[in-house]
Parts: sequence; C-alpha cells; structure tokens
Amino acid sequence: LLSIRGVRKAYGENVVLDGFDLEVAAGECVVLIGASGSGKSTLLRCVNLLETVDDGVVELDGVDITDPRIDADEVRSGIGIVFQSYNLFPHLSVLDNITLAPIRVHKVPRDAARARALQMLERVGLADKAAARPDELSGGQQQRAAIARAMVNSPQLLLLDEVTSALDPELVGEVLDLLRELKSEGMTMLVCTHEMGFARDVADQVCFLHRGRPLELGPPAQVLENPREPRTREFLSRIR
Ligand code: ATP
Ligand code: MG
Repeated sequence: LLSIRGVRKAYGENVVLDGFDLEVAAGECVVLIGASGSGKSTLLRCVNLLETVDDGVVELDGVDITDPRIDADEVRSGIGIVFQSYNLFPHLSVLDNITLAPIRVHKVPRDAARARALQMLERVGLADKAAARPDELSGGQQQRAAIARAMVNSPQLLLLDEVTSALDPELVGEVLDLLRELKSEGMTMLVCTHEMGFARDVADQVCFLHRGRPLELGPPAQVLENPREPRTREFLSRIR
C-alpha cells in the first residue's frame, strides 16, 4: 500500500533521511523506533506531505504522491495522522473538531458529516462526549477523539506519532487498545512509539532508524528480542 523508496530529506546540512526505503502492505502495522532526532517524525511528515522530500519516491496505492502535480489535500484526506498532543481545537466541541475538515475542505454536507462523526465517536467509545469541549475530556479521551477525527474520511493509512507519550500512564492503555482494535479491523498503520509492549503485540514489522536509514527491519520477535545490529541492541538497552 505504501512504498517509500530512496527518500532523502535534509534541513540545511542536517541530513535526516538518507535514502530511506520502507514498504508497508495493506493491513500491516509497522512500528518505527529509534533515538530522539533519528527522523521518525520527519518520515511521517514526508508521507503526509507536511514536508517535501529532497529526493526519492513515496507511493500510496501505486500513486507517486511526491509528484508536484498531485493535489496534496486529496492525498492527505486518504491519510489520517495523529500527533503526540495539542491535536484538538480547544474552542470547538468534540463533534465540531471532527466535522471541521470534512465540511470545510471536502465539502461534505453538514448533516452527513455530523452523522459520520457521531459514528466515529461511537467507534472510539465517546458518543456521549460529542458536545463537550476538549478540555472537559481526559487526555486519553482527547487522543481517542483525535483518532476519531483522523479516521473520519476512512483513510487508507493511519500515521501515529507518539500518540501516548503525553498521557498519564493509566490512560495509555485505552488508546493502545483502540489502536489494537483498528489494526484487527484491517487498518494499515505506520506508528512511532516507545511502547515496546505494543510493538511486540501489534506490529507486523519493527523498523529501527539510524543515521537516516532503516538499519534493522523485521518482525518484533527478531528486532526487539534478538536484534542483529549492535546499534539496535544498544538503543533497546537504553530504553528498557
Ligand atoms: P523524537 O523521538 O524526539 O520525536 P524523531 O525521530 O521524531 O525524534 P525528528 O523530529 O524527525 O526526530 O527530527 C529529526 C531531525 O530533524 C532532528 O535533528 C531535528 O532537529 C531535525 N528537524 C526536524 N524538523 C525540523 C525542522 N522543521 N527544521 C529544521 N530541522 C528539523
Ligand atoms: Mg518525533
């Protein structure tokens, strides 16, 4: 479904992605791990066209989305993204947060957008919070609302960047459980996380980023339990 080939991205002299290759098949969950600054978020932003790549190709469903002639809004509507925090607009209700882009950007009629948003809130267990403001929700509920918003266009691909890092430990589980469910329903996901338990249980592949490349890529049982690369081993020993 997603094919990243030879992607290079530099900020000035700082080469963050240096000929990066990664394939994500439909229905797969690929977890990105690596040191702070190794380029995990940059890779997600390149896939979502929040950054332009300097070189290389990103194909989604066979379409080269790095082609400058492509409609970036249309590409983004097929890709859901959720960040660590500060996702929701504080002055809007949960429901309005979710319907904003469908109504404004995608010109979905208001009633249809609201019906779909309520369906998604139901899906993430927040049907009773539609009228609430984000600050009336717990952190875990806010992240579930952000995931509902990311899913509202029925994206082909979900990008998740440290979505549990800002949460109190007791709220992490409810968000990870939701991601597990989405994965079991066939959602394709590319995930940056430090939650190694999640990576072990849910990932089809774990990719360790080092020096702008996928230094080690394989099933979690190999990369996390039995890494071949000394750099991977060193990284894992530091975070455990
Ligand atoms: P973390 O685990 O801390 O989230 P990361 O792996 O997500 O790290 P990135 O955020 O992708 O790392 O950053 C990779 C490198 O790119 C860092 O050296 C960072 O300073 C640099 N960088 C990221 N965004 C920008 C930007 N907009 N302008 C300049 N440099 C940037
Ligand atoms: Mg990051």
